[in-house]
Amino acid sequence: MKHIARKRFGQNFLIDTAIIDRIIQSINPQPDDKLVEIGPGLGALTCPLLSIAKKLDVIELDRDIIPLLKKNCADRGQLTIHNQDVLRFDFKSLIHNTEKLKIIGNLPYNISTPIIFHLVNYTSIISDMYFMLQKEVIKRLAATPGNSEYGRLSVMTQFHFNVTPLFLVPPESFDPRPKVESAIVRLRPHDTLPVTVPDKQAFDDLVKQAFSQKRKTLKNTLKTHCSVDQLLAANIQPGQRAEELSLKQFADLCTILHQS
Ligand code: SAM
Repeated sequence: MKHIARKRFGQNFLIDTAIIDRIIQSINPQPDDKLVEIGPGLGALTCPLLSIAKKLDVIELDRDIIPLLKKNCADRGQLTIHNQDVLRFDFKSLIHNTEKLKIIGNLPYNISTPIIFHLVNYTSIISDMYFMLQKEVIKRLAATPGNSEYGRLSVMTQFHFNVTPLFLVPPESFDPRPKVESAIVRLRPHDTLPVTVPDKQAFDDLVKQAFSQKRKTLKNTLKTHCSVDQLLAANIQPGQRAEELSLKQFADLCTILHQS
């Protein structure tokens, strides 16, 4: 039984055993870990993880691949398959006490950013996450103010997680080969948030609005949200653009808006 990779599910299967070993070493799974894999596919990471951890929950949208996944990972441990869309998956449903989730995945690249935004809702129950992403997306996750890659994804990810790029993975490590370079990143929720905000939803809304028209000045993009005086009070010049603001400046502006 041969599976034909489906583009619409972002299927690029890992075939490079040296890379697979390196990913598993980085994850360093322990028998007591509550491991969850997003998009197990044919089991390239699932099988070695299951051999070590003995228990694993996986979330896979493509129901046609599941019989092959089960066959490939047979007899390695207890594999629980959730045939669902990860973007609708409630990660809290996997938690039964105070344990935290270690989430891993060679993510479908077409929806990797929405997946990260979805996971932001579950930081309190996550210990760490290891993801294969497009190299360009990892640059955006880790970007600092003033860089062209810096945007809403950078601000919101860095607000919630410690971002550590780990290593590059070339296109030849996959079948079919993606057109882009890939890399592994570790995201670990902060023990204490790096900045204080009065309301996380208001912070999210503010950052979203600020980056809605990246090239425009904040005086324009935020004109329905705040006055020039409020920008100045947060140490922001009205002529600055969102891509120039630090996490702290966004947080200070959010606090000032909340107080008035
Ligand atoms: N883990 C496998 C590997 O490394 O070879 C497959 C990785 S492949 C890049 C992405 C996987 O995510 C595929 O198995 C695909 O079917 C699955 N997938 C795509 N969209 C999904 C979604 N919305 N929810 C859950 N899984 C999804």
